[in-house]
Amino acid sequence: MNKAVKEIRMVDLKLQYLRLKNEIDAAMAEVVNSTQFIKGPQVKSFENNLAAYLSCNHVIGCANGTDSLQIAMMALGLKEGDEVITASFTYVATAEVIALLKLKPVLVEVNPDTFTIDPSAIEAAITPKTKAIVPVHLFGQCADMEAIMKIAAKHNLYVIEDNAQAIGADYIFTDGEKKKSGTIGTVGSTSFFPSKNLGCYGDGGALNTDDEALAGKMRMVANHGQRVQYVHDEIGVNSRLDTLQAAVLDVKLKYLNDFAARRIAVADFYDSAFLDLKNIQTPVRAKNSTHVFHQYTLLLKDGKRDEVRKKLEAKGIPSMIYYPIPLHKQKAYKTEGNFPVTEELCKNVLSLPIHTEFEKEELNFIAENFILAIQ
Ligand SMILES: *Cc1c(COP(=O)(O)O)cnc(C)c1O
Repeated sequence: MNKAVKEIRMVDLKLQYLRLKNEIDAAMAEVVNSTQFIKGPQVKSFENNLAAYLSCNHVIGCANGTDSLQIAMMALGLKEGDEVITASFTYVATAEVIALLKLKPVLVEVNPDTFTIDPSAIEAAITPKTKAIVPVHLFGQCADMEAIMKIAAKHNLYVIEDNAQAIGADYIFTDGEKKKSGTIGTVGSTSFFPSKNLGCYGDGGALNTDDEALAGKMRMVANHGQRVQYVHDEIGVNSRLDTLQAAVLDVKLKYLNDFAARRIAVADFYDSAFLDLKNIQTPVRAKNSTHVFHQYTLLLKDGKRDEVRKKLEAKGIPSMIYYPIPLHKQKAYKTEGNFPVTEELCKNVLSLPIHTEFEKEELNFIAENFILAIQ
């Protein structure tokens, strides 16, 4: 086979839409007919359904995942100069909002196997100014929350889980208890960017917490700092989840576990196809988390990433680099310190296409060509 029969995409939103078209079209038409584009009943319905799915008390929709992180930090009352610890290997949004609020982002290393924040590095970075930890559940699995929560309790810190990539994953405590990713810390934040595991048809985000007072505060911050209309006790932002997006999300939430199962099946297929390859590390699955495979990210061990990408591209197979430049080397976030694991990852990670609509034939095509490209 020289080229794939169908176009291969990193994420196939079109095929997923076609599969759910009737339900999604009907849900969207209902919103358009009602013209309640802002604060329509679908927003409350989705918030309630997501809270039930996560087994948590409060869900607050907002405009996007970046806003959700910002709203959490504002509602927690973090003040200029406060230090917030987060992972050095993550999407920029996490550090961006910390800096935007004039807090100090303190970057710490990640685990070379799971790529999530290293708890021992957190402990070492704590100072009297540290106020919060923002673990990122990268690529679809949870950071080591049990260790992180112990550190947070010991030092009296807030924990804001950046759950943009792992919604639906389960964290498994040592005693066997399971909790949904994003529901373990003080607050969970997530994104419904179209390509996320639970993606809407534009921008969207949400916050979740069990703390009623904090939930009220977050709602207030997200709504111009007002609890009562036209009464502004604090400076807030305008960050709403649109009714149309909530309607789409309410349909797709019912399929979230199915989406995860389909992604895991793709990951399992790749894992077994690549079993004999010695020059790559396939995704390491953490012992204390399920993996919902927002990304299927390999670590290439012999520095041939560009070459491999070109060979794949010639066959019509896309691949992506999440993330090519470490945060500490970005002009806006230059940080002193050594981050050898993060630098190694930025040089050598490669993400292959993964989504909910693959057929066996296409996966065979990708795997065969990846094996040829890497040899
Ligand atoms: C996508 C993402 C965000 C930001 O979400 P937006 O909805 O794009 O603002 C934040 N953190 C991580 C880890 C993400 O992957």
